[in-house]
Amino acid sequence: MKILVANIGSTSLKWRLFDFSNNAERLLHKGGFERVSDYPKAIEDCLAELKQANAIQSETELSAVGFKTVIAKDITGCVRFDERVLQAMADYNGLAPAHNPPYITGIKLFAQRMPGVPLIGLFETAFHQFAPEAVQRYAVPEAWRQIGVRRWGFHGASHKFMAERSAELLCRADVAERARQLYVNHGTTPISREPLRVISCHLGGSTSITGILNGVSIGTSMGMSPQSGLPQNNRVGDLDAEALPYAVKTLGITVEEAQRQLTREGGLKGLSGLSNDIRDIGEAALQGNPQAKLALETYVASARHWLGSYFLQLNGTDAIVFTAGIGENRADMRAAICANLENLGIKLDPVKNQGTRAVEAIISSADSQVKIFVIPTNEELVVAREAKRFLETK
Ligand code: ADP
Repeated sequence: MKILVANIGSTSLKWRLFDFSNNAERLLHKGGFERVSDYPKAIEDCLAELKQANAIQSETELSAVGFKTVIAKDITGCVRFDERVLQAMADYNGLAPAHNPPYITGIKLFAQRMPGVPLIGLFETAFHQFAPEAVQRYAVPEAWRQIGVRRWGFHGASHKFMAERSAELLCRADVAERARQLYVNHGTTPISREPLRVISCHLGGSTSITGILNGVSIGTSMGMSPQSGLPQNNRVGDLDAEALPYAVKTLGITVEEAQRQLTREGGLKGLSGLSNDIRDIGEAALQGNPQAKLALETYVASARHWLGSYFLQLNGTDAIVFTAGIGENRADMRAAICANLENLGIKLDPVKNQGTRAVEAIISSADSQVKIFVIPTNEELVVAREAKRFLETK
């Protein structure tokens, strides 16, 4: 069974092709194009590359194309795309303006190009749907809740991968299995030993931190939209709701312009006044730029805020996991986030931390009660696994 996972940006198409034959999971091909202006051609070129690499002979060999879609109104989990699902995504375009519109366009183009191949999406909100109702709520009037004003949470594929992989690394096959079966039985697979507590830190261009108990999310830093939680690359993160009307009035700008600024000119970019990329900001901070230093400190303070929140809610933690662009590559950020937590049993090994970049590793010291891991994320594999299960069960 071959499943193609397509990652669609407004001007990019990236893909991974997995083969699940013979009970194995093999990555057959990965590739991508940036600065795409002609999407139908990009899909054509993707198929041509797959054929040229002998990964497929024809697109009819594809059992499905999977998509890591972000959010849809009243729909989550793993679903097959049809008009109803695409409309539900369009209904929430405003919540994920950088992601939903290009995905809808891209999925329609895939449907035209290969009408016989099932197109299946795993929504990024899915992993958080079983968190307690109390942490999914905002304290808004009922009418607001009914139109979807609540915490959804995102990065579900990545946090699910962390839930499974961290459990394996901690020799908890029972919890890994529970996490694997999450969308089948809603986290009810029994576990055979004491509870397993993990805090997953997905630190990238887009960042969120999730508390995970026995393979299931108990809450996450992102709320209703990906413009929340920690400061993002150029998106604002958490902001007092009063700030928006205040800025609109005081700066004399429209709501749309305020939104544009919060989603394009905010986050690390807004804080540093320099760049949305932590490599540039880190470089400038090293050269003594005070705004760059402050941007990094604000990011770290926010990460610790959320880490602390889940540490408390989980009654301690067995492991902290770092992943995504910053989490996998930036030893300095990991060190700053884990600094001075010895009293909580959290101790990084500075040498292991410094030596770890984009590989799976344990970076806590031997005497740290809490294990600290770097785990490269594999969101596409999570999507492909769920698409496979969808085909097999539906
Ligand atoms: P996205 O959320 O867009 O997938 P990534 O997970 O790639 O983003 O994370 C992007 C962030 O991670 C940027 O701030 C970038 O500086 C940082 N980053 C990515 N790769 C590296 C690297 N090899 N070395 C240092 N920092 C990196």
